[in-house]
Amino acid sequence: MPPTHGKMPAEHAEPITTADLIEQLAGEFRAGEERMLRRNAGPQPQHSPRASGIDHCSRAMALDILKCEARPAFSDWQLARMQRGREIEELIVTPGLQRLGFKVIESQASLVIRDESGTVICTGHPDGLIDYAGERIVFDCKSVAPHLWHKLNSLEDFWHDPWCYRQPIQLLLYMHAMELSIGVLILDDCLGHRKLVFVRMAGNEERVAAALRKCSLVVEAVKNHELPDYCGDPAVCRRCRWCGHGCEPPLDYSESGGIKIISDEELEHALRVRESNREPAKDAAWAERIIGKAIKPLADGDYLCGPFRLALKRWQRKGYVVQDGEVLRKKIERIADDVSQTPPVSAAS
Ligand code: SF4
Repeated sequence: MPPTHGKMPAEHAEPITTADLIEQLAGEFRAGEERMLRRNAGPQPQHSPRASGIDHCSRAMALDILKCEARPAFSDWQLARMQRGREIEELIVTPGLQRLGFKVIESQASLVIRDESGTVICTGHPDGLIDYAGERIVFDCKSVAPHLWHKLNSLEDFWHDPWCYRQPIQLLLYMHAMELSIGVLILDDCLGHRKLVFVRMAGNEERVAAALRKCSLVVEAVKNHELPDYCGDPAVCRRCRWCGHGCEPPLDYSESGGIKIISDEELEHALRVRESNREPAKDAAWAERIIGKAIKPLADGDYLCGPFRLALKRWQRKGYVVQDGEVLRKKIERIADDVSQTPPVSAAS
């Protein structure tokens, strides 16, 4: 007889077992989480380009507006990450900055950028402005995965990242709209560590001009209901949320001549598991590298580091010769799916 929980759910009802109680609680937890995540998950209509959405491809930006309803839905994993990003970003402003004594003025104000004819070509909501020594500095908070956080130390690091390049562009557009010369990205690694990356307008004027030209092109395309050309860069297309969903760029994804379909549910599931573990795996690989570098010069013995004990012992590795044989190299990438692709960083505000 399984143990029963003390309470009877209702008169004459069977006593609820511990196993049932656990299952019920877990089910309600899952359903509640899903409800909460899905609350704001629907497509949010967009009428003009957003500063946070400046893309390498203007066609993708136009699709974001023209086919907003058809934009592939975010997965629960992505929604949870975005929700956590929003929470962290709110924490950075209040109580974060304010507790540090910075004077935050104008939080989440709307701004628009117009072209010479007065047409709105870009909109945005900077996280806020601080007044520091008489200088107004616009800031935007971003939560990024820990392995990325360590890599992003200067503006240059952003330009080389296929996702993060958008963040300084977004900030530069805010600076342009507000006629400010300094902006700052406040980066949180989702573990509570923060750093500042400053962005100056000086030296970045051409990037701003290029982003504005792109916005104008998109606005024109939307007005005429004509999509801009394909971007022509397979690397960009392969990461694109619209690839295979609203845009069929003339690309050959196969490097071995013709793509073939595999119908194997277990393999498909394994590919999804592999994908969902990619970020934690990158974090683990980064940690292994740092640990390996730090312990290499240490002598054998026992060490304590925080709550961890490190026991080091060297031994001679036996060399072996790898036999000749066939090696199968694999390259797996998501090119289309039921979920859209988002950067490995939080939802951009
Ligand atoms: S698939 Fe390529 S061409 Fe099409 S919208 Fe995306 S990036 Fe642009």
